[in-house]
Amino acid sequence: MAGALPSHAEIVVIGGGIIGCSTAYHLARLGKRDVVVLERSKLGSGTTWHSAAMVRQLRSTNSLTQLVRYSAELYQELEAETGQATGWMSCGSLSIATNPDRLTHIRRQASLARGVGIEAHEIDREKIAELWPIAETSDIIAGILSPSDGRVSPLDTLAALSKGARSNGVRFFEHTPATGFESCNGRITAVRTADRTLTCDKVVLCAGLWSQQLGRLAGVAAPLHACEHYALIVKPFDGIYNAMPILGDHDNHMYIRDEAGGLMVGCFEPRATPVRLADLPPGFSFDLLPENWERFEPVMQGALRRIPALETAEVRMLLNGPESFTLDNSFMMGEAPELAGFYLCCGMNSVGMASGGGGGRAIAEWVIEGEPTMDLWSVDVRRFAGVRNNLRLLGERAAENLSAHYDIGYPGRTFATGRNLRLTPLHQELCSQGAHFVERSGWERAAWFNRGESTIEPELTFERPQWFDRVADEHWAARENMAIFDQSTLGKLLVQGDDAEAFLQRVCANDVAVQVGRLRYTPILNRRGGYESDVVVMRLAHDMFQLTTGTAQPLRDLHLLTRSRRAGEFVTITDVTSGFAVLSVAGPNTRELLKRVSPDDFANDAFPFQSHRTIEIGGTVARAARLSYTGELGWEIYVAADAALPLYRALMAEGRQMGIANAGAFALEGLRIEKGFCAWGHDVGPDDTPLEAGLGFATKLDTGIDFIGREALTRQKAEGLKRRRVNVRMRDSWPQLLGTEPILLDGEYVGQIFSAGYGHTLCCAVGIGFVRLAGPALSQAVSSVGWEVEIALKRYPIEVSLKGFYDPRSERPRLGSGRLAVNGVSHSKSA
Ligand SMILES: Cc1cc2nc3c(=O)[nH]c(=O)nc-3n(C[C@H](O)[C@H](O)[C@H](O)COP(=O)(O)OP(=O)(O)OC[C@H]3O[C@@H](n4cnc5c(N)ncnc54)[C@H](O)[C@@H]3O)c2cc1C
Repeated sequence: MAGALPSHAEIVVIGGGIIGCSTAYHLARLGKRDVVVLERSKLGSGTTWHSAAMVRQLRSTNSLTQLVRYSAELYQELEAETGQATGWMSCGSLSIATNPDRLTHIRRQASLARGVGIEAHEIDREKIAELWPIAETSDIIAGILSPSDGRVSPLDTLAALSKGARSNGVRFFEHTPATGFESCNGRITAVRTADRTLTCDKVVLCAGLWSQQLGRLAGVAAPLHACEHYALIVKPFDGIYNAMPILGDHDNHMYIRDEAGGLMVGCFEPRATPVRLADLPPGFSFDLLPENWERFEPVMQGALRRIPALETAEVRMLLNGPESFTLDNSFMMGEAPELAGFYLCCGMNSVGMASGGGGGRAIAEWVIEGEPTMDLWSVDVRRFAGVRNNLRLLGERAAENLSAHYDIGYPGRTFATGRNLRLTPLHQELCSQGAHFVERSGWERAAWFNRGESTIEPELTFERPQWFDRVADEHWAARENMAIFDQSTLGKLLVQGDDAEAFLQRVCANDVAVQVGRLRYTPILNRRGGYESDVVVMRLAHDMFQLTTGTAQPLRDLHLLTRSRRAGEFVTITDVTSGFAVLSVAGPNTRELLKRVSPDDFANDAFPFQSHRTIEIGGTVARAARLSYTGELGWEIYVAADAALPLYRALMAEGRQMGIANAGAFALEGLRIEKGFCAWGHDVGPDDTPLEAGLGFATKLDTGIDFIGREALTRQKAEGLKRRRVNVRMRDSWPQLLGTEPILLDGEYVGQIFSAGYGHTLCCAVGIGFVRLAGPALSQAVSSVGWEVEIALKRYPIEVSLKGFYDPRSERPRLGSGRLAVNGVSHSKSA
C-alpha cells in the first residue's frame, strides 16, 4: 500500500476506522507530512463499515455540537477536494414524542438547537404523517424536525478522508497491527509491530473497541467496553422514498431510516449486552456478531407498531455489530496523563461518524499544539480516574449507557451500575442519616438527606422533584442557622519544593505568593487566557502549598501542573485526595458551633476570611480554612481520612443541639448560584477568560508578574470584551432551570445558561450563563425587561445581573419567610 514500513515516523496513528482516517487527514491538512497509519486488517473493517452513519448535529455541549457541525460541512466538501463522494444526504431528522415528558425533552433539545443556530421546528401529527407515510402516527403527540441533519455512506467517507490524507503524504499500512509500545522517561518512543519497531515522537490511539486493550500495553487507561449494537435491515417495499428524514422514535428505543430503497431500524435496546474482546472470533474483520432475535424482540414489537408494513417486509439482515461505550456516554480524547506524547481518540458511544470529522480535527490540533484548541472537557480522557479502568465495571456501565442512550434527560438522573466504588470516610454514617447518593467521577456524593422515617426514592420528573422540600430545608439551614456538607470528594494536590512558589506564580493567574496561613482563589489559564482550571491555593509552608480542586479534576490538574514544570525546576506534585476528608460547615451560627468543639479562636480578627490554620477540634487536629462555597460564614475542615468520622460525630453532637442540618450537593448548588459563585467545567472553562467571567480581580494582571495566559488577557483587555458571564433568575417561582437553556434579549438568542439550581432564598430558579454582549451595551441592557429564557420552546421572563442575586452581607433571610407557590401549589418551608 505504501511500500515498506519505515523505521521512524513523527506521528503514528493506530487504527484505520473513521476516527483514525480523519485524524490522519487533519494532521496532514495542518502540515504534518510524516504520518503513518497502522491498521490491523483493512481500513474500515472494525465498526465503521456497518455504521448507520447519521449525522445529527445537536449534542450535549456547545463544543460537541461544533464538532458535528464541522463534520457535516466537511462531509459535504470532501468530494470537491478529493474526487471521492461521501454519500452525504441532507435528509434532516425528525424526533417524535408519544408522551408528555418525551415532548418536553425534545422541545428542550429544540430550544437548545435554536440557541446555537441549528434549525429546529415543532411539527404536528399530520405533517409527520406526510413525511413518513408508512408510519402509524395515531399515538404521536408531536415531533421536532431538524432539516439540516444528514447522513453519509461510512466507507465512502472513510475513503475520501484516506484519499485526502494520502495526497498530503500520509502513509497507510494495512494488515499491520500494533503489538506493543516502548517508552523512555514517561514519553512514548516507539510502536512495535510483528516485523519491526517504528520509532516515533507521538502516537494517536484510534483503535475503536480495541483501544482499552492496546492502551494497557502502553500503561495507559482507555476506559471503554464494547457492546452489541443492533440494526434490522429490510428490503424495499411501497411507501419508502429516498432521503426520508431520519425518524427518531426514542420512546420505542429506535431510529428508522431508508436504506437502499428498504429500511434500517436501529436501536438502543433497554437491556444491552456487553461484548468481551476475547469473545470476538480471531481475525474479526468486516465481521458481525451472531443475530439474536430474542434480544431484538422488544424493539421489533415497537417497530411493527410504528411501521405496520414491516410485518410482511423481507428481512435482509439483523445486523449485530460491536461498538464501544465509555463510563459516561461521551467519547474520550486527549493526551494520556500516564504517558507523554500518547494521545487517544476512541470510545465513540455510537456517534463516531457524526463526530468523526470534527473529532479528527480536534485531536489533530491537540497533538500539534500540545493542548486542546477549544473546550473539550466533556470528552477529555482526564475526566476518568485510572482506577475505573476495570473491565467488570466497564462492561456493566457500557451496557447501561447504551440502554440509556435515548432516555429522557430528567434532572437528577444518575447511574445504576458501577456504584459504591469510591466512598468518603463518612459514607456509612451519612447513609444512616438518610443520605441519598448520586455518582460523580466514581465517587458517591450525598445529594440530599431523607428526614426521619420518611424515605423517598425519587421518581424522575420535569415537575417539582420529590427531593425539593428536603433540599429547601438544607438550603435554609445554611442560610439561617448552619449546615454541614461532606466535601471529601474535592481534589487535593500538594505542591512542594524550593521552586514551588515560583512555579505556582507562573502557572496561576492570581498572586499566590501569600504568607503561610493564607489562601487564595486562582484561575489556571491556557495560552488563550481561558480557564484550564480554578483552584484554592493554601500556603502551608514556605515551600509547600495545597491546591483544592473540583471532584472531577484532580487527574486533569495533576497532569496540567506536571506538564507545566520546567526542566530543572524543583517541584513535586502529589495527589493527596484520598488522604483527607473535607467537612464544610456553613451558616451564620457556625462560629458558635466551632467555639463549642474547639479551643481555638474563630473570631473575625483572629481567623479572617481567606486564612487557614491547624486547630484542635473534637478529639483530633485538623486544618480549618475560612471560606465557604455557600456565600455564608463558613469553614472547610481538612482532616486526615481516618479521623474524619470521629470529627463528624463531635461536630454533630454539639451541632444537633443547635439545629445543624446535614446538607448535600443539590443544596450547595442552589446556594452557590444564588451567590454567583462559578463552577469550573460548568460556568467557566477553557474557552472563557477571567475577564469575560467577571473575575478579573482574581488575576495579577495589574502587577508586573508574568503568568500563563497573561498576554492573551492583556490583549483582550485592550480590545474589549465581546461576551460576558451573567447571573440569571426567573421572575416567577416556577419552572425549574436545568442549566442548558438559551437566553434571549428582545426576542434574539444572545446566550446560554450553563448551570442552574433552585434559589430557595429567592423563591425561584437561578442560573449562571454567558451572553454575547459586554461592556456598555450589556450594562445598558442589564435592567431591560426584554430578557427571557427558552425552556422547551416556551419563553419565560428573567432578570439578569452581573453580580450574584444574594449577598448575606447585605440581606439576611427572614426566618419563616420561605413560602412559595410552585405549579400553583403553595409550598411551605418547614422550620
Ligand atoms: C449498528 C451501528 C450503527 C451506528 N450508527 C451510527 C450513526 O448513525 N452515527 C454515528 O455517528 N455513529 C454510528 N455508529 C457508531 C460509529 O459507527 C462508530 O462510532 C465509529 O465507526 C467508530 O469508529 P472508530 O474509528 O473509532 O472505530 P473502528 O471503525 O472500529 O476503527 C478502529 C480500527 O482500529 C483497528 N485496530 C484495532 N486494533 C488494532 C491494532 N492493534 N493495530 C492497528 N489497528 C488496529 C481496527 O481494525 C479498526 O479498523 C454506529 C455503530 C453501529 C455498530
